[in-house]
Amino acid sequence: MRVLVTGGAGYIGSHTVVQLLAAGHQVEVVDSFANAKASVVPRIEALTGSLLTVHAFDVCDRDKTEALLAGGAFEAVIHFAGFKAVGESVAEPLSYYDNNLDSTLSLVRAMNRHGVRRLVFSSSATVYGADPELPMREELPTSATNPYGWTKVMQEQILRDVAAADHSWRIGLLRYFNPVGAHPSGTMGEDPQGNPNNLVPFIAQVAVGRRERLAVFGGDYDTPDGTCLRDYIHVEDLAAGHVAALHRLQAMAEPVGVWNLGTGQGTSVLEMVAAFSRAVGRDLPYDIVERRAGDIAVSYADPSRAHAELGWRAVKSVDDMCADAWRWQSANPQGYPDA
Ligand code: UDP
Repeated sequence: MRVLVTGGAGYIGSHTVVQLLAAGHQVEVVDSFANAKASVVPRIEALTGSLLTVHAFDVCDRDKTEALLAGGAFEAVIHFAGFKAVGESVAEPLSYYDNNLDSTLSLVRAMNRHGVRRLVFSSSATVYGADPELPMREELPTSATNPYGWTKVMQEQILRDVAAADHSWRIGLLRYFNPVGAHPSGTMGEDPQGNPNNLVPFIAQVAVGRRERLAVFGGDYDTPDGTCLRDYIHVEDLAAGHVAALHRLQAMAEPVGVWNLGTGQGTSVLEMVAAFSRAVGRDLPYDIVERRAGDIAVSYADPSRAHAELGWRAVKSVDDMCADAWRWQSANPQGYPDA
């Protein structure tokens, strides 16, 4: 298929582009490079032996998006582009609502106008809200605890409404649990700007000497070791879920499919620290500090629908995730080389 990937230079996008090319699809990327580095592009090309066409603009730009869809002869779009930092969304809600809703509206409008009505969308387990039933199943009601999460709930709603108005749409809503890890080559991985918000990039920066100690947010949760449980999923498994969803859209009877992408296993913060320490070969320093506002104690998926309907399941272990994240971080201590 000819596939347009928005945000295709970002962390999850770049890993998915590599797998799409490996599966024989023709891929073009559009990325604003607001949260991605240009040097990922030659690395994708080196891994796949393909030249990649990259459009460097923000899909919020309606005229440019319109022109790209008019001329691209795309059969499907995978839409990753968006802001994703929870804390920043609390501090700057308007920029999150503006950017995440605008980009989706601009893209879907242009797709509709040019008859490209197959879309795979990056959603998040955050749409299960503050106090979900466990394991989290796709049927649960959606809600959110911060503006970032609300933008995901709202984008899902916009896409359902678009598909309800025109049944020729085929839309896959992928609810990611906690993506971590890196390409096994060590040439592509997560490269957060500034202070990492997420656990594994923070641990990786402690391991490589960029940060002194990890702060573990809360040791008094009602969990076996007192720290929060999350469903960590290897970014390679997550990327494979996108390829499976794209293939599924072709055969889908209903306009919208919703799939959790997780392993179904909860891992605690301290278990993750121990796994990363095994990958590095030494104990990593941490302190247990106050809880972080807005964290839920436990989050893990029921991934059975994705297995039944997409023929997909996560296969990589927490040790694989840490070994690959460490290979990437130790080979690229400062992330991608771009200034
Ligand atoms: N966490 C932590 N220290 C950090 C970053 C995260 O203890 O520096 C914890 C956080 O409280 C949560 C887990 O690690 O329990 C996963 O957090 P992350 O931000 O990676 O993902 P999310 O909160 O979105 O599940």
